[in-house]
Amino acid sequence: MIHSGRFRDKKILITDKDSKQKNDRTWSFWETEPGLFEPLVFRCWKKTWFHGRDFSRLLELAPYEYKMIRGIDFYNHCISLIRQQPNFEICFGNIQSMENRGNRAEVCLDDVKFVADFVFNSILFEKPVLQKKDYYLQQHFKGWIIETTAPVFKPDEATLMDFRIAQQHGTTFVYVKPFSETRALVEYTLFTENVLSSAEYEQGLRYYISTLAGAESYNIVEEENGIIPMTNYRFPAVNGRIIHIGTAGGQTKASSGYTFKFIQKHSARLVESLIKNGNPFITQPAGSGRFHFYDSTLLYILKHNSFPGDKIFTLLFKKNKPQQVLRFLDNESTLGDELKIISALPAWPFLKAAIKQF
Ligand SMILES: Cc1cc2nc3c(=O)[nH]c(=O)nc-3n(C[C@H](O)[C@H](O)[C@H](O)COP(=O)(O)OP(=O)(O)OC[C@H]3O[C@@H](n4cnc5c(N)ncnc54)[C@H](O)[C@@H]3O)c2cc1C
Repeated sequence: MIHSGRFRDKKILITDKDSKQKNDRTWSFWETEPGLFEPLVFRCWKKTWFHGRDFSRLLELAPYEYKMIRGIDFYNHCISLIRQQPNFEICFGNIQSMENRGNRAEVCLDDVKFVADFVFNSILFEKPVLQKKDYYLQQHFKGWIIETTAPVFKPDEATLMDFRIAQQHGTTFVYVKPFSETRALVEYTLFTENVLSSAEYEQGLRYYISTLAGAESYNIVEEENGIIPMTNYRFPAVNGRIIHIGTAGGQTKASSGYTFKFIQKHSARLVESLIKNGNPFITQPAGSGRFHFYDSTLLYILKHNSFPGDKIFTLLFKKNKPQQVLRFLDNESTLGDELKIISALPAWPFLKAAIKQF
């Protein structure tokens, strides 16, 4: 929310085709300090399990905490904040198009045209057209919030990644966010090119819950599904007066699908620039070329199956401190962290994949 005097007189229109009344997703992320949405944090864990096929460790995350926010709490909070601002208006409807008109931008919303100084767009109108060295995988998942009859979860121990399941479709893991001894979100997740049938996700969930979580009897309380693009395609950041944000603005980490914190960081930089310079034109953050290269290398390996994804993540967590890995996944690692991380990985497949990126 921009409180700067400069924008107090500006009319700001927020539009969405969905009125955001469902808990359609949960966001998890890690951070070292309480962030903007701290009051919305539904659960947070200081420890989380990593399980590979032959390696398990309970990771002590301090100074990080692994946090979870429920979509519905986020939507209610944001909509209520927005409604308190006299110069903001929310309008629900379908955006049909947006284009530049001189030094302004025009949006067509349910056949009505609006013109603005800037448009911040989070709609991915179509799948990007990939070039030769662009790889496009998907992080796709189905999750259940379950209530078990017997106590099987430890509420202060989440599971970040559990790879002790079949990998026949490609890189596949489960994560678990326990809310109590009997209630948890269990999510069956893949990093692959093609999505599965509903029955295949459910089979994976049932197997995990009964075998590895050890719950013989349970009820499914809620369900969530999702597909997040994992691509090194460079989404355009700006098109004239249209500024792309969120996944549509390239804020999804290509090699992990994590987006939530990247969006917060990107939005904070846009707001800072609006306040300081009166426009949202920002440069790429420092080191973004380097992280794009790492992401492309990993995507290449996953796409070509040149080294199994479960083994890559296992080596990362086995041979490095969790804080180093989390910083790396946040694009906030130092060169020292990165050398340590790279040295933990098998030289030949990574070297070959890295050369392909030039
Ligand atoms: C189920 C799920 C769980 C996720 N969990 C995590 C997580 O734990 N951690 C993490 O970092 N990331 C997670 N992500 C990835 C990412 O954080 C989310 O997808 C996030 O919501 C992306 O924000 P966004 O603004 O880019 O897109 P969205 O939140 O999808 O917002 C785009 C908006 O545009 C609206 N819209 C689309 N087309 C039109 C149109 N024509 N007219 C009007 N409105 C339109 C949609 O209704 C939507 O509200 C998850 C994604 C999903 C789907």
